[in-house]
Amino acid sequence: MSTPQTPVAAPADTLLNGAEYLASLDDGREVWFRGERVGKVSEHPAFRNATRTIARLYDALHEPGYRAQLVGTDRSGLCTHAFFKPAYSADDLRAARDAIAVWQRLTYGWMGRTPDYKAAFMAQLAEGHGFYGEYADNALAWYRKSASRCLYMNHVLIDPPVDRHLARVDVRDVYVSVDRDDDRGIYVSGAKMVATGSALTHATFVAVNSGTAARMEVGRDEDMALVFITDMSTRGMKLISRGSYELDAHSPFDAPLASRFDENDAAVVFDNAFVPWENVLVYRDVERAKGFYAESGFFNRFNLQSCVRLTIKLEFCIGLMLKGVEATGTADFRGVQSQVGELIAMRDTLQAFVTAMVSDPQPGIGDSVVPKLQTAAAARLYMTNAWHRVREIFECTLAGAPIYTVSGVEDLAQPQLHDTLQRYFRGTGLEAPARIKLFKLIWDAMYSEFAGRHALYERNYAGNQDQQRLDALRWSEMRGDTDAFRALVDDCLADYDTHGWRAKHLK
Ligand SMILES: Cc1cc2nc3c(=O)[nH]c(=O)nc-3n(C[C@H](O)[C@H](O)[C@H](O)COP(=O)(O)OP(=O)(O)OC[C@H]3O[C@@H](n4cnc5c(N)ncnc54)[C@H](O)[C@@H]3O)c2cc1C
Repeated sequence: MSTPQTPVAAPADTLLNGAEYLASLDDGREVWFRGERVGKVSEHPAFRNATRTIARLYDALHEPGYRAQLVGTDRSGLCTHAFFKPAYSADDLRAARDAIAVWQRLTYGWMGRTPDYKAAFMAQLAEGHGFYGEYADNALAWYRKSASRCLYMNHVLIDPPVDRHLARVDVRDVYVSVDRDDDRGIYVSGAKMVATGSALTHATFVAVNSGTAARMEVGRDEDMALVFITDMSTRGMKLISRGSYELDAHSPFDAPLASRFDENDAAVVFDNAFVPWENVLVYRDVERAKGFYAESGFFNRFNLQSCVRLTIKLEFCIGLMLKGVEATGTADFRGVQSQVGELIAMRDTLQAFVTAMVSDPQPGIGDSVVPKLQTAAAARLYMTNAWHRVREIFECTLAGAPIYTVSGVEDLAQPQLHDTLQRYFRGTGLEAPARIKLFKLIWDAMYSEFAGRHALYERNYAGNQDQQRLDALRWSEMRGDTDAFRALVDDCLADYDTHGWRAKHLK
């Protein structure tokens, strides 16, 4: 006789869909753009297609063609995106990698801060909530809230670029600090430099990165030793948005990337903003404010998300390059082929980093595993230098071809220009409209203002260039690697002296 099985309820699916995501943005958030307070972000011409691109990702969570790769359950049975829950094995990390890739392919790799970016941190709160001491329950609640809906979080870790030569406490007129607290929560004032995607998100995560934390001192910096989350509707919180490449895009034909993937960046300003206690993770605790970044596994995991994203962005650019050199008739030249080959080797290097990060992890908090710190650190440095080289290869190989174009899509409909364009703007094996369309896309990827911002992003989003190298050195010292490197040289020095060889196998 078989044992009766207790029926197990299928996990409830509370993941947002696209329409719910768009509606959720209409929460009274204070976004400033060109002298006006934005009403509905999802309808504003500076943001509306970026929000629709994100909505597309949320819809994919529910579509049979994508769902199997995107969605799984955590250990408590909670249904979520595979990177919004902790990984407990290399197989879990592989599943997370595949889910990240599904979303990234829907943006061709052109949005750095899709909701899974900050899931690199939020997922770790499931196992790591204990780190937050008396605020541990808040951390666990935020894990559940984030994972159950796939909330879209932005984060701000960096102080505004002013008075960096002073101690942080001496720049309280600008940097974020606490004004006061009461039985309901804390009140904060100050600014943080750019929160990518913030106008499109559900909440802001506020903390400090490793470089800033290193300059904080117990007994001095308590008022600034804070980690908290603010809902975007928080009163007293303003987003001062930069310009919008989506708004400035002349048409989809002229700016096919900027007009839909401009995730925008905004300065975040708090003016006596109220943060309820349930949104506080670290309060006036210098050691915890300094430690959360290293302890959380965020660093190990965000580099996995970034590396998958950049691999796909590079695959897209290799496609652009292949089609570009075919259109100019240079595809068979040896020098041109060598440049394409370099792009392919760069993509394969990124792929190798991803494989190493998922297949050879290290223990994380609790039972979890995370990509190895040294692999993540090496991948970060490779990535933040890679984009510069990609652009250089485009500049040298397609050279001036992308600027041989028309000012706008209207020229293609102008009868007086028809014969001229057909004759002089054709590509090798391409009619003029198709050639112009291709090079407009290449322009937007490499040379438009959208492209310039991407170059600045790729170089800086993961911390300043010195810090990236200093982290690699410090972590190598902590592992004892640098001692081993010295010992290797000591062995070599011991092979000989002023009398000749000391090594027994040499004469
Ligand atoms: C497009 C874009 C999007 C971004 N999005 C986000 C985001 O979403 N969230 C977020 O938190 N941040 C974001 N950033 C900010 C980004 O994290 C920072 O730009 C990056 O960490 C570098 O910091 P910084 O610009 O302050 O440069 P700095 O840290 O000032 O570095 C510039 C130079 O000054 C040197 N330097 C600085 N301080 C010191 C010091 N104390 N001692 C010695 N040398 C020093 C550095 O070594 C470096 O050579 C974004 C940036 C860009 C460009």
